[in-house]
Amino acid sequence: MTHEEYVDYIRTRYSDLFDPSYSDEDWRYLITIGPGWWPLLSDFCEKLEGALKHHGEVGRWYIRQCKEKMGELRIYVRRAPYERSDVDGFSEWVADIAPLEPSAAKEMISIIQEQIVGQANLTCEECGEPGGLRVLDGWYRTCCDQHFEQWKELRTSK
Ligand SMILES: [Zn+2]
Repeated sequence: MTHEEYVDYIRTRYSDLFDPSYSDEDWRYLITIGPGWWPLLSDFCEKLEGALKHHGEVGRWYIRQCKEKMGELRIYVRRAPYERSDVDGFSEWVADIAPLEPSAAKEMISIIQEQIVGQANLTCEECGEPGGLRVLDGWYRTCCDQHFEQWKELRTSK
């Protein structure tokens, strides 16, 4: 599966979880993690979907971005800034009154995020084999021994 295929897959499979204001093309730049972490993002989506359904908050929280930073998996989840309100037959977009108010759903999301990030810290971003944080010339990556060797070779050959 190519990166593009994976992004299309996850967007289609969990269409309720991705901010609808971004296009398919945008997502190719917003989801940039390596293939070793794809199963972790899929797992995250599965758990997030379950949690949102449980709390009746589907469509109120969206994944905005998923990337690697300083060797760590970062999944950004934000509350939808507006929610639809149907009053007396009129539909209108109303501002979310208290977007930062703590909620059970928000707590669940944090717990799921922590679990997945914890797993990613021990998983090679390239191949999904057991790995750890490696540092090379001030660059950080989470990878296995084999991919660390490849990375060193690539950098020294430049
Ligand atoms: Zn690897």
